[in-house]
Amino acid sequence: MGGSALGITDGFVGAVGETPLIRLHGLSELTGCEILGKAEFMNPGGSVKDRAALGILLEAEQEGLLKPGGTVVEGTAGNTGIGLAHLCNARGYKALIVIPDTQSAEKIGLLRSLGAEVRTVPAVPYRDPNNYVRLSGRIAAEIPGAVWANQFDNLANRRAHFNSTGPEIWRQSAGKVDAWVAATGTGGTYAGVALYLKQQNPQVQCVLADPHGSALYSWAKGGELAMEGSSITEGIGNSRVTANLEGAPIDDAVRIDDQSALDTIYQLLWREGLFLGGSVGINVAGAVETAGRLGPGHTIVTVLCDSGDRYRSRLYDGDWLATKGLQQPQRAGLEAI
Ligand code: PMP
Repeated sequence: MGGSALGITDGFVGAVGETPLIRLHGLSELTGCEILGKAEFMNPGGSVKDRAALGILLEAEQEGLLKPGGTVVEGTAGNTGIGLAHLCNARGYKALIVIPDTQSAEKIGLLRSLGAEVRTVPAVPYRDPNNYVRLSGRIAAEIPGAVWANQFDNLANRRAHFNSTGPEIWRQSAGKVDAWVAATGTGGTYAGVALYLKQQNPQVQCVLADPHGSALYSWAKGGELAMEGSSITEGIGNSRVTANLEGAPIDDAVRIDDQSALDTIYQLLWREGLFLGGSVGINVAGAVETAGRLGPGHTIVTVLCDSGDRYRSRLYDGDWLATKGLQQPQRAGLEAI
């Protein structure tokens, strides 16, 4: 990852990573802390998952599991599949993506446009054998020469973040990080960065942000996997502790509701000019809550995972939000936040 001395990157692969670390002005002034967002929506495939997809693919190639013309199979909420579809085109593989039919039409349509074979399946819990992740594993086993990316439990995922996202944050902030806050889907981003930052400075506070409908907040707080409610956010929350999350440092956890996440992404749009997805609302609201706990004068880093473009028909559509019992934030109403 990264560029050459001449500033030229080598293809799609070379363009992954080295994203800006953006100071969020409004929220930094509001909290008296430096609130910094790693601009992962600027990756060439449009999300933080480009890094995991690349790490998984490169390790599979190195291990000799993936041969030219081979197939990469994955169960994904969308972004990992999008990253994999780009990478498969760039490196001569086929992509077969299994995705729950509850995910946004934008992500499913994009996967098809990129040339992936897409199988939409009903969203059922992980304990059900037809859960999209488990199904993708079985499909991979049935196709000769196919590799199952297995992003949830393949540690190549968090290694990609340990080796790239973490060091970039440390370098870009000149080592001035007091807290790292992120929601987890696979846990790769949260864990990889948390492990790296703790290695540099054990004082860095690592805070897991979780939406409703996920069991990780109660697990992080009290050791018990218990969930309540639901969330319109996509790609985050989990009912289990994945191999990628296992053993990651967790100093604290915050739970953010959907309305707060929505208010946050609209505020980022109107005050910062940043058009971002729902998990960013959980992350940035979590960073603001952490700022409140730590007090002024601290530097808090989080992730801007993907663009609002992937959710225009949902998060940025008042009628759709109303069907979920949520209020589309109004510009005038944001002054108080
Ligand atoms: N936000 C979005 C929009 C995602 O798609 C994902 C990955 N599913 C995440 C956050 C969480 O990333 P990770 O899998 O590294 O925990």
